[in-house]
Formats: sequence, structure tokens, C-alpha cells
Amino acid sequence: MSKECSSKARDETFVGLNSPGCNQLIDVAVPLPIYTALTYILSGHTLPPPKGARVLVPVGRRNMVGVAWRIPAEKPPSVNLKRVKRILDQGPLLPESLISFLEWTSSYYFYPIGQVIAEALPPGLLSARNRRIAQINGGLPKSRGCRPKFPSWSTEIPLQLTQEQEIVLNAICDALATRSYHPILVHGVTGSGKTEVYLQAAKQCIRQNRSVLILVPEIAMTTQAVGWFISRFGEEVTVLHSGLTEAQRRDQWFRIKKGESRIVIGTRSAIFAPLSDIGLIVVDEEHDPSYKQSEKFRYQARDMALLRGRMSDATVILGSATPSVSSFKNAISGKYQLITMEKRVAERSLPGVVVVDRRKKEKKDQHHKLKSARPGWLSEELKEATRDTLERGEQVLLFLNRRGFATYVFCPDCGHVFRCPHCEVTLTWHRGDKRTNSEKDGVLRCHYCGMESAALPVCPQCMGQAVKALGYGTEKIATDLEEIFPGARIARLDRDTVRARRHMEEVVLDFRKGHLDILVGTQMITKGHDFPGLTLVGVLCADLSLNFPEYHATERTFQLLSQVAGRAGRGERPGRVIIQTWLPDHYVLDCATTHDFNAFYEKESKLRKALGYPPFGRLINLRFSGRKKAQICDTTGNVARLAKKLAKGIKSTGGSQVEVLGPAPAPRAKIKDRYRWQILLKSSSLADLRALCTGLLSRKADMVPSSVRMEVDVDPYSLL
Ligand code: ADP
Ligand code: ZN
Repeated sequence: MSKECSSKARDETFVGLNSPGCNQLIDVAVPLPIYTALTYILSGHTLPPPKGARVLVPVGRRNMVGVAWRIPAEKPPSVNLKRVKRILDQGPLLPESLISFLEWTSSYYFYPIGQVIAEALPPGLLSARNRRIAQINGGLPKSRGCRPKFPSWSTEIPLQLTQEQEIVLNAICDALATRSYHPILVHGVTGSGKTEVYLQAAKQCIRQNRSVLILVPEIAMTTQAVGWFISRFGEEVTVLHSGLTEAQRRDQWFRIKKGESRIVIGTRSAIFAPLSDIGLIVVDEEHDPSYKQSEKFRYQARDMALLRGRMSDATVILGSATPSVSSFKNAISGKYQLITMEKRVAERSLPGVVVVDRRKKEKKDQHHKLKSARPGWLSEELKEATRDTLERGEQVLLFLNRRGFATYVFCPDCGHVFRCPHCEVTLTWHRGDKRTNSEKDGVLRCHYCGMESAALPVCPQCMGQAVKALGYGTEKIATDLEEIFPGARIARLDRDTVRARRHMEEVVLDFRKGHLDILVGTQMITKGHDFPGLTLVGVLCADLSLNFPEYHATERTFQLLSQVAGRAGRGERPGRVIIQTWLPDHYVLDCATTHDFNAFYEKESKLRKALGYPPFGRLINLRFSGRKKAQICDTTGNVARLAKKLAKGIKSTGGSQVEVLGPAPAPRAKIKDRYRWQILLKSSSLADLRALCTGLLSRKADMVPSSVRMEVDVDPYSLL
């Protein structure tokens, strides 16, 4: 327990265990990549700080702020220990319930407790240099008017519920009344009015004097949900998401901790909000992959919501029009209560969906030698439908999950392809706005590391002047549309255009108010938004996500298609959807066309089961990365050999041995100059996987050199 501490302890702050009056030990969690808390000694007369209070402690040659974690049960071996320098909080900074939750997440994800705490706290609170520590010491800082502003755009009075909404609300109220853990999956089609149910359930929970946590997938979505909640609950609501400034985040965090605000809405990390006595947790759009953090502390906020709900005796609602295969499996097996909402509010119908088979179209076009007056990405059907819709004064949304102007650039003379020197992937051409851009031809950007270089029309290899661009992204679509539909008001939403958060809010609001005619965007535009004037949705290339090399590519495609289709016809006029594809026979298109989630689940779950993929099997991915290719390869090889040996020795609880797949280079084999390898552990038993992982980690120090980063990804989403 105190191994790291003793080996690094080299200055005057440590005292021998036998010094008189110095027998009070305390374990402190410090934000370092070490798996246990460090043990320290308290000065003679100091009372131990409460669990969850911050303390200043020496680590190596510097001072760090850690969190008092526990009084160690057994006396550590008689080594020299360092002293706690200062106790920074009189009371616990973290509420008791949050502490147990963090401990559990740390152990579940094999992620160091100190770093889990650092992730859960607002920025700055664990900084030894920050002067604000003095302010916080002894009391909590005053709110300094850092509340971010959000537009509110809904009725303040609760709506008269539809029959289906009423049924769901009643079920939630029954669950709330039990004051015990009760998970519910609300499978409600898009536009069935789930938000109104969440609003009224939140009200019920507040009446019981308990707090409410609402998770939404992305900032883009918070805008709308927050607007609704603020107009209904005012000051009671607090917002937590990564788009806030550091000061705002701290301010909001303390408002919650002080109990000034009992409703928290936020993205993934809001799962760590310092709420006490949570009665209701809602995970909206529970299927959304952004609930899984994709680097460092790789937690899944939806899964953690269930855990936190269990620890707080709360009702947990997972809501979605397209539940994840994993949540749906839990619902039909009875682990969660399943409630279905089949109808849209106000008798609105689900949009009609048409699949356009690009294969036949392309052939026919060639046959007739049509010199088409439209770009290759646009079918005649979609072009005509867009024209009709615009003529009726209605709105169009076009979805393509790829940014940029062209997806790669090459020289037809010598074959040279422009690639990122750090990531070995092709560079995407972002032409940018010619009128405002200083770089005449825009930039080439790496979508992995963000590296940019000016897009020059000359090949660096042969000096050829005929450099060509191929493949299209949202930027090209928007540019082409301006030519095809002159006069239409067109906007684009993707990661390139929303670097400024305000832009996102403005565009969403403008589109909602009808100040724009066509909105083009990536998956960002598929989520939760409610656009009453939108009647035509076009999916430009369903194949992009369908051909993605991940085991859940089909599930993701079904979700994207259903979600984006669900944006159409939410107002008074009916909507329609056109999906362009080269794979029209794929079962996912049938299911999306008929809005048939159950049929999709049947097919998809059979395939997953056969291959032992989640949720029918469990996975842990061990990721290794570093700058030296040979070293990464060797290290991963050694760990894999040990893993295979350990796997044989594990007394299986699941019936079969843990499969050790790899070592293998990751599909994205190099990012930001770091080579990436991985070992995938697969089993039907999570306990077996964990046992193996624990065994490996206990030998990490001997096997993995410090220049190699080893990360454990429990329940990985992306395996790229
Ligand atoms: P979902 O999240 O299920 O896709 P929303 O919660 O966004 O659906 O609701 C869709 C639309 O229906 C919203 O504009 C909402 O204000 C409206 N709405 C919800 N419930 C009712 C109701 N009971 N009566 C009238 N309109 C409603
Ligand atoms: Zn790169």
C-alpha cells in the first residue's frame, strides 16, 4: 500500500513510525497513475480529516493535493512515512455517497482512484498552486454569477399528457414511491413526448425532497433539454458540461454541493455531480455512444447511472427510440422494467421512408448517357424531393457522417497520396470559405490528430500540377447545394463549424424558427432536436456507417437512420425520409423503413450471440502505445503470452476459458506519432475477465516499460 510512498520519500517531511505521538495514519488518494491510495502520517495532535476532505501531501519532491480516503485498517510495514502537510477542508469536499460511487467505478474500470477523483471534481480543486484553495478552505465559495445563459423555448405549464405518456409517468411515480432502486427502459418512438414525461417525473421527485440527475449525450442536445427544464424549474436547475468555462464549472459544482440546485442536467461527466439523495436519474438517448468516454478514464456514463442509482435507491430511466442492444436485452430478460410508447403525440405519423438504390440508378444513368446536372452524391429522387419541399416553404435536413470538402487528395501523375506524417492516414481537404479564408485553397487536415497544412496545388513528390481531390464530405455538399438551389438559405453543422459553441446554438435555433431552408450535417444533427417545420430528411450515404469495421456497425446505423428520420414530420405537416445506399438489401434498411425496432433486435442479437459479442459476451481491451514500434510490439507480445498462460489457470465461472485475441496492431495503428497495439480479452463471464486483468496488472511494473502506455478499456466501444 505504501510502496510508492516509501521509495520516493527522500526529504525531511517523513518521520519514523516510532516517533512519539505520531501513530495516526491516513490513506490519501492523489491524482497519479497508481492503483492504491498512499499512506501518510498526521502530526501529533491533529485530528484526522474526514473522509473526502482535501489534504496537501508531499509526493516525491513536490507537494500535491489529494483526498483523505480512509484510515488504514492494518499497520503498514515499518517503513518511513511522510507527514500530511496541511488539511485543506474542514468538512468532506465529496459527499459520502459520491465517495463510495467513485471507489466502485475506480475498481470496475481498473482506473486509479486518485485520477477518478480528479475527473469527478471541477478543474482547479486539486491544484497545489491554486490560490483558490485558501478561499474554499473552511467554507464554500460564494456564487459569483457564473451561471451560463440558455435560451428557454417551451411552455412553463405542464402539458396535458397523452394516454401513453400518462402510463409511463404513472409507472415512474410508482417506482419513485418505493424509494428503492428501480431501472426502467422507456422505448418510445421519436416524437412520443418523452421529455415531457421526464419533466413531470422530475417534479414528482422534487416533491419527495430528493434530487434529480438528467444525462444527455452532447452539448448540442443540452441546449434544448436545458431550455425546457429551466423554463419549468428555474433556479432549481444546474447545468454541467464540458462547454462551460472552468469558473462556471466550479461555480455550478458548488451550487449543487450546497443543495442550492437539486436538478442537474449534463453530459457524460455529470454522472459525478455532487448531488446527495438522488431519487431519479434519467439517461436520455441511452443508446448514444458519446456516453462512453473514449480516452484515459474510459467509463460508460449510462452504465454508471445504473450503478449510482442502485447506490442511491433511485429510479433510473433509460430512454430511447432506438435502445442499445445491450439495454434491450436487459429489459426483455426482466432486469429492467420495459415500457413502450408506440405513438407520436397529437396523432402525428412516423415519416414514410424510401430507400433509393444507387446501384441501379448509376447504371441507368450511364446507359442513357445522361450528362447529369447534379453531383454524384445526389440521386434524382432526392433532388426532386428537395425542390418540392423548398417550393412548399418547408425545411430539408441532409445527413452525411463525413466532414470536409474531399476525403483525400492525390497526384495522378506519380500516385502520391497526401497523408498525415504522425498518423499515417489520408488528409481531408477542408476548402473553407473562399471569401474569408487566408489560405487560398484551404487546408489539409488530419482527422485523428488535427494537424493542418496549407492545401497546395502542387505534388511535393514529383512537382506535378494536377493534384486531384476525391470523396465528398459535408463541406462539399453545402457548396454544391448553393449551386443547385440558388437562393435557398443553407447552413452546415459539423465539428468544423461548431468550434464556437454559440454557432451551434444559433444554427439550431435559426433552423427551428424557420430562418433556414436546408441544414446539412454530421451525426450532430440527428440527435433529439425538435424542428417543427422540417418535413424532408435525406440520408446521403447509409453505407458509410454500415461498412464501418466495428462489431456494432449495424446497430449504430439503425440508430442513426431512425434518429435522423425521427426529425422529420414532428410539426403539423407529415414528414418523409429518403435514404440513399448501395446496399439496399441489408436487413437494417428494411427495419429502418418500417420503423421496426423489434425485428432489428431479433436479427442483430442472433448474430451477436453467435459471435459472442456484447451483450452476449464481455470484452476488455488492453491498449498499448508508445513511440518505439519494436518496443510496443515486444511488450504487447509478452503481456499476451502471460495472459494466455493466466487464462488457462483461471477457474472459470462462465464455463469456458477467457479468449485472448492478439497481440495485434490496432486498426488505427499510429496516432500522433504513437504506435498502437492491443490485446482483446473475451469471455462470457465478466468475473473471469476481471480475474485475468487483475493478474496482469499486478505484474505490470515488471512487464511494461515506463515509455509504454498500457490502458485497460473495460466494455470497450470502439476497437479501432
Ligand atoms: P421524444 O423525445 O420522445 O422524441 P419530445 O419529447 O421531443 O419527443 O416531444 C415531441 C414534441 O411533442 C415536442 O414538441 C413536445 O413539446 C410535444 N409534446 C410532448 N408531449 C405533448 C403533449 N402531451 N401534448 C402536446 N404536445 C406534446
Ligand atoms: Zn495526424
